[in-house]
Amino acid sequence: MHTLHVNLGDRSYPIYIGAGLLDQPELFARHIGGRQVAIVTNETVAPLYLSRLTEALQGFELATVVLPDGEAFKNWETLQLIFDGLLGARHERGTTVVALGGGVVGDMAGFAAACYQRGVDFIQVPTTLLSQVDSSVGGKTGINHPLGKNMVGAFYQPKAVVIDTASLATLPPRELSAGLAEVIKYGLICDEPFLAWLEEHMDALRGLDQQALSEAIERSCAAKARVVGVDERESGLRAILNLGHTFGHAIEAHQGYGVWLHGEAVAAGTVMALEMSRRLGWISAEERDRGVRLLRRAGLPVVPPQDMTAEDFLGHMAVDKKVQGGRLRLVLLRRMGDAVVTADFPREILDATLAADYQ
Ligand code: NAD
Ligand code: MG
Repeated sequence: MHTLHVNLGDRSYPIYIGAGLLDQPELFARHIGGRQVAIVTNETVAPLYLSRLTEALQGFELATVVLPDGEAFKNWETLQLIFDGLLGARHERGTTVVALGGGVVGDMAGFAAACYQRGVDFIQVPTTLLSQVDSSVGGKTGINHPLGKNMVGAFYQPKAVVIDTASLATLPPRELSAGLAEVIKYGLICDEPFLAWLEEHMDALRGLDQQALSEAIERSCAAKARVVGVDERESGLRAILNLGHTFGHAIEAHQGYGVWLHGEAVAAGTVMALEMSRRLGWISAEERDRGVRLLRRAGLPVVPPQDMTAEDFLGHMAVDKKVQGGRLRLVLLRRMGDAVVTADFPREILDATLAADYQ
């Protein structure tokens, strides 16, 4: 088992990573202060892993809330089901909420924990690669509003994150690839040696080699924890985690959310950020191709939707959260393994990037 510490003063917490951690009761017990525990999961994950988690939590007074599956349910109505479950079982301030599932479950259970009786303890048990390397680290929780994704929420850190890499065995391969987009992102923005490691281990990762998965997850979480440790509330540096996301969000919005997975849109968006960095003269064509090759080997799309015009992109990017004071800010690569957030680029280079012929 690998243990990583996220250092955020009195809100610091460990991330445990390894195969079979769901079966280790003491990992959970050491972070549970009271006698009550509420497991929040969904209808897809429950039949797969709920009984094992319940077993590991034997001895606690357990309540379980099983949510419908899907981003479409990341809303107030579903959040209310968590409060219904907690109040129905008379859970008190000393309860601990345990989120078992992907990012949707984690974001919602975390937000519920932040709100329930003004804040109760919370443990993340992420079961998708994306949630293991991204959403379970950093403390962002929340739900969607009809007018915008993740628009209602709180910064709320868990007491611990327990990552059982064996749970990825049941994940659809497309979801695994989507998670790999974020893994590759960490290499590109802040860890060039990790990129080289990924080039060596991509096949092992896609083949669910547990050792390789543990290492990739640990290095990804470490990268995110470093960035979040410097800038917990996204006043600056944290924005580099959005490499490929401004272009990617435009793709997601244009296609209709859910048609491309988030990681797939980020992958194509990352290719565009690589291309723009090359056009700025910051990285070479070979370096750009190195990034593209790795994304492709991860099973990800590396070409934006053919029907999307530069105008389509600009229309969606104008509403991106990274527009500050009317200026579009983008995450670009100064070098491989070194990202910057900048509004300082010639408009023609952006236009040329949007109009470029990707293949
Ligand atoms: P998800 O939670 O929808 O999970 C994807 C699918 O896999 C779902 O159908 C889920 O039920 C299923 N699943 C989960 N674990 C499984 C397993 N082990 N075996 C089989 N199926 C399994 O999607 P996601 O990609 O994990 O997370 C996306 C969400 O995370 C979005 O809502 C996004 O906004 C959020 N997010 C949050 C942050 C953050 O910092 N809080 C960061 C990135 C993304
Ligand atoms: Mg993302």
